[in-house]
Amino acid sequence: MNKVKIIIAGPRGRMGSEAVKLVTSTEHFDLIAVIDYKFGGRMLNEIEGFQRIHNVPVYSEIETCLQTEKADVLIDLTTPEVGMYHARTALQYNVRPVVGTTGFSKMDLEELEVICREKELGCIIAPNFALGAVLMMKFSQMAGKYFSDVEIIELHHDQKLDAPSGTAVKTAEMISASRTPKKQGHPNEKETINGARGAQYDGMHIHSVRLPGLVAHQQVLFGSDGQTLSIRHDSYNRASFMSGVKIAVDNVMKLDTFVYGLENILE
Ligand code: NAP
Repeated sequence: MNKVKIIIAGPRGRMGSEAVKLVTSTEHFDLIAVIDYKFGGRMLNEIEGFQRIHNVPVYSEIETCLQTEKADVLIDLTTPEVGMYHARTALQYNVRPVVGTTGFSKMDLEELEVICREKELGCIIAPNFALGAVLMMKFSQMAGKYFSDVEIIELHHDQKLDAPSGTAVKTAEMISASRTPKKQGHPNEKETINGARGAQYDGMHIHSVRLPGLVAHQQVLFGSDGQTLSIRHDSYNRASFMSGVKIAVDNVMKLDTFVYGLENILE
């Protein structure tokens, strides 16, 4: 079996370093290079924490990396601006992106979808790789058919750059597809402190909590006459995301289209 040749962007990050562990410990994966804007020109084993990983060059820029290395898949776990540039550039070089970076705009997603269609190449953008979180979103979509009143409360560590989380936005989109539209709350409700009712998506409310000590958590709270339903998922560490990254890499190799959300490739 041919190994999947993989490049990881953002290897020193909390997610990226877990992805390095995943790729280097998976028999049929081959880590051929990493992209790290601070350590270009070195080898990965010269970077603290990676001393045991040999023969993996570090590039500071994706274009040079892709011109030099023949890769199958790019795993991106960086920041929204860089992640979009990386995904677009990878596709230009016929490399399939698996992107966990969150904060992509609707326009970004549409642009990537068009490139994938033109190039007949697979690309997976997954706001949440944790299988439990994917199920939480699916269960929420099921519940949305019966409950129009819903509040999404997402909780993350305080170093997260984007709010609301990609998972919260994706959950709202999925509920929206099954829910009868409704503007929630009292028609005359008024915020006495700006933002008290959170962000709005299609009449639903999304609340973002940021605290040290948290990793990635979300509660979807439905209410109707005399009852509430809570669906909650908690990721306690970044390893919780890696089984999803593995599934995404294996699947992207068989795809010739753009996929947004891991739930679309799970049976
Ligand atoms: P993090 O620890 O801050 O890691 C981001 C890494 O990207 C850092 O090492 C950063 O380096 C690096 N970086 C920045 N610009 C770069 C560039 N031009 N080239 C290469 N690397 C660059 O963040 P994280 O917690 O790992 O999260 C990374 C992304 O994944 C975020 O968007 C987060 O929301 C998302 N996320 C997704 C999931 C999921 O399941 N899909 C789960 C958790 C997090 P410096 O620190 O030196 O700038």
